[in-house]
Amino acid sequence: MSRAARDQWTPIGPETSVRNLRGVGEGRAALFEACGLRTARDLLFWFPHRYEDRRNPTRVCDLGETSGPVLLRGRILSAHLKTSPVRRMSIFETILDDSTGTVMLVWFNQPWLAEKIMKGDRLAIYGQPRFSQRNRLQIDSPAWEKIDDTGVGETEGAIVPIYPPVNGIYTKSVRNVIQQALESVSRLEDPFPPLLAKRLGVIPLSEAILSLHHPRELTPELATLETPAHRRLIVQEFFAFQLALRLRRASEEVKRKQRRIAIDDELRASVREVLPFRLTGAQKRVLREIAGDLQAEEPMYRLLQGDVGSGKTIVALIAAMIVIRNGHQAALMAPTEILAGQHEERIRQLLGDKVRVARLTGSTSAAERRPILAALAAGEIDLLIGTHALLEKPVEFRSLGLAIVDEQHRFGVVQRQRLFEKGRLPDVLVMTATPIPRSLAIAMYGDLELSVIDELPPGRTPVRTIVRGTNRLAKVFRFIEEEIAAGAQAYIVFPIIEESEKLDLTPLVAGEERVRAAFTGRRVGVLHGRMPPNQKQQVMAQFKRGEIDILVSTTVIEVGIDVPAASVMVIVDADRFGLSQLHQLRGRVGRGSRKSLCILIRDEGASEETKARLRSFESTRDGFEVAEKDLEIRGPGDFFGTRQSGVPRFRFGHLIRDHELMEIAREAAIEAAEKGTYGDLDALAPGVLESGKQLRERD
Ligand code: ADP
Ligand code: MG
Repeated sequence: MSRAARDQWTPIGPETSVRNLRGVGEGRAALFEACGLRTARDLLFWFPHRYEDRRNPTRVCDLGETSGPVLLRGRILSAHLKTSPVRRMSIFETILDDSTGTVMLVWFNQPWLAEKIMKGDRLAIYGQPRFSQRNRLQIDSPAWEKIDDTGVGETEGAIVPIYPPVNGIYTKSVRNVIQQALESVSRLEDPFPPLLAKRLGVIPLSEAILSLHHPRELTPELATLETPAHRRLIVQEFFAFQLALRLRRASEEVKRKQRRIAIDDELRASVREVLPFRLTGAQKRVLREIAGDLQAEEPMYRLLQGDVGSGKTIVALIAAMIVIRNGHQAALMAPTEILAGQHEERIRQLLGDKVRVARLTGSTSAAERRPILAALAAGEIDLLIGTHALLEKPVEFRSLGLAIVDEQHRFGVVQRQRLFEKGRLPDVLVMTATPIPRSLAIAMYGDLELSVIDELPPGRTPVRTIVRGTNRLAKVFRFIEEEIAAGAQAYIVFPIIEESEKLDLTPLVAGEERVRAAFTGRRVGVLHGRMPPNQKQQVMAQFKRGEIDILVSTTVIEVGIDVPAASVMVIVDADRFGLSQLHQLRGRVGRGSRKSLCILIRDEGASEETKARLRSFESTRDGFEVAEKDLEIRGPGDFFGTRQSGVPRFRFGHLIRDHELMEIAREAAIEAAEKGTYGDLDALAPGVLESGKQLRERD
């Protein structure tokens, strides 16, 4: 629409382009658009990040006694544009008189102001007074506004919204343009039908928007984002997200699987035959849930949660056997090569040649790959184990019946989806050993059913955790020496997060030297993510066979590694890890009958906060509790580290702070999706939601 197309008689509506607003030329329009602000609607959702109370003007005669910035009203007595002789800077000096005194206003490098502010003008200004070198009161570059004698309609003498910067456009211009956009608010449709709004307990959208741009009072709730207006926006955002999840799921649910899965006595017997132990009560319960899903007509979409060492693998394996015995294939995707290798090894041990297993990872050579892919397509492989490599295009199954994703938090939603698409509505089981707090689970997996293994296999002795300062390292080493002499094996982890592309191994190399020097008579091995995969496998195998006493490592051993004889875990510079990560590492020990110990070495100079955090970890064994704490401390973005994790980002809501609203939104969304009583889905999203929309569009 051209500028002329909107004459003064066409009201501003939500779809009016920023280009058609007063004071927005080609240049500014581009700056607004670069911030995603294209229409009046976008501007409505561009909220102030703070407010300034400029309602009560100060008298000039009282200046000097005040500390913060002040609002003054007065008349311009004189105005002069000068050029500073020293740095050739333009200086615009004016004197403001409010009849109780005068104050100098100075603007630097804004010569055009000389054409705007003239002698005799009435002005409201807002700024920080100071005493000049000549001991005169002066205010540098104040915010200003011309006012008429009545003072009507001025924005400087009000609660002034301060907007986040838009690509260098003056705050005042941004405010001016948003002010125009606010005219469109009465024409903005409310995406919540009245009944839904009532059910959710929220105020109308237009009311929320207006009160955030122009609050009547500066209440504490405004600062803590707890006003009804905030609630409205957060609930809308969460509701849209949950609704998108439900609708996607509903559209998948109506599709029926073509497979028939039967579980008979013969199958039960063959499962019992491979089981090396009795399942715990929790494992049995979860297995019943999964078996039920496998036999149902709709595809399974289930998250299997369980603390480290709770025995998820065997459950997944039995699920795979059920599908395989019914003539279909299964895939197991793990986040690292080591883990994929370990799964393969354990599964081969358990199943022998009862199931045809193959492994496919990034390091599988082209020559090895070809026959695997052919056998897979021909249905001659029952269970394919691997890493991301499973997601590649040429990987085709004859009939993928079950897709299992281990350590789900390492993968994003998109990858999960891609594995899903390898089959014709395969059942999907995602497992995570990082206990995900409920608030986050609902946000991430609102579309999955949840199964929890909340019981550890019998015979485990709880891991004792202690924190020591760096200066105690020698003593800790002496203790490890004694443990090894008594038959233990130990991990010593150095703080190299294996997620960065350019891995700096210096701390690990230095650490290895220190360990070798301290344990001259012991066999020391090293493990990190940049080693060639076969070398990694080899080191792990040696450690497992007890041919290595001390494994010096990075966080590659964080997930899933299972060596029951290892009973000592030392984590150096523990203060640099998140609590959930520490818990994962701690879960590597305490897997056998030996009494296990986890020793956290922290920096001598660690802050009180860090010390308190580590102390709380000492006494917390439950992974869920650890996760809640971690989430509180670090926020959802960091919770899973920097790797893509599928945690949705919200504009207004916060997963922890607002978790109650998420639950409310979820329940309402489930109901609305079932009854079809949600309004216009597209009206929910604009300016509010990115994540839900992305999900709907499936990446
Ligand atoms: P995680 O849930 O962390 O993936 P695993 O599946 O690796 O746990 O199991 C941890 C260890 O516990 C493995 O050595 C496994 O063989 C063992 N285990 C699993 N279930 C049982 C059980 N019911 N009884 C005894 N040991 C079990
Ligand atoms: Mg595991």
